[in-house]
Amino acid sequence: MTRAIITGGSRGIGRAIVDRLLADGAQVLTCGRGDRPSDLPAAVLWAQADVANPAEAAALFAKARAAFGPVDVLVNNAGVQIEKTVAETTDADWDQLIGINCRGSFNMCRAFLNQPDARGAIVNIGSISGDVADPSMAIYNASKAFVHGLTRSIAVDHGPHVRCNAIRPGWIQTGMLEAGFALATDPARARADALARHAARRFGTPADIANTVAWLVSDQSGFVTGQCFTIDGGLTAAS
Ligand code: NDP
Repeated sequence: MTRAIITGGSRGIGRAIVDRLLADGAQVLTCGRGDRPSDLPAAVLWAQADVANPAEAAALFAKARAAFGPVDVLVNNAGVQIEKTVAETTDADWDQLIGINCRGSFNMCRAFLNQPDARGAIVNIGSISGDVADPSMAIYNASKAFVHGLTRSIAVDHGPHVRCNAIRPGWIQTGMLEAGFALATDPARARADALARHAARRFGTPADIANTVAWLVSDQSGFVTGQCFTIDGGLTAAS
């Protein structure tokens, strides 16, 4: 029986991962900073929590362990995006984005690994932006490079009982992607230009990412650890 914590499951990619692991028979706890979403399945345990706060991150494990026992799957999905260059980035931007994307992922991984007899699989949601710089996304790009590096270190330091992998999504249809298009001078043109760069001629769906997560937490990927998997419809295959 898989007992999973998935951060940021109120919407978008996180919600698709919640739905997929639940359908695969897992017991699931998910969280966000807001109230429990009204359409979240009753079987899913909800916690209002900010993963950037170490105490709140640790409390998620206490809650899950009390409800269903040791957590053997962690999916670090919660993340935020700020579209700015380094020169434009404020201290508050830094604290918010690095607090969630980097410290939040670290807090959750540490809490998972500090469980007595920690074992199982961690999947971190990185981004193609961690390896190919998206313009005006400076600290977001850097935060995702951190996530990829953290993934490899955990795999090396905590094998063989814990496997740790990352997914590098490309452009996935969620509120985060739409917010990015809304900032463009000509959003329709920006969308069409981006689609043309995809070999798949479509953006990804949250389910495209959830399918890969399901494989990475299953026994079918038992020899896979320390890797970052690009799921981007061929976007980064083109030069
Ligand atoms: P959304 O903005 O749609 O969802 C983000 C989720 O994270 C929400 O549930 C949000 O809930 C939660 N969240 C944010 N901050 C915190 C926090 N501090 N503590 C707990 N939960 C939090 O984003 P996406 O689904 O698009 O993105 C999910 C992940 O995928 C992110 O890490 C993102 O960087 C990554 N990604 C997305 C891509 C895309 O094209 N969409 C591309 C590449 C990577 P709440 O706001 O209520 O806290």
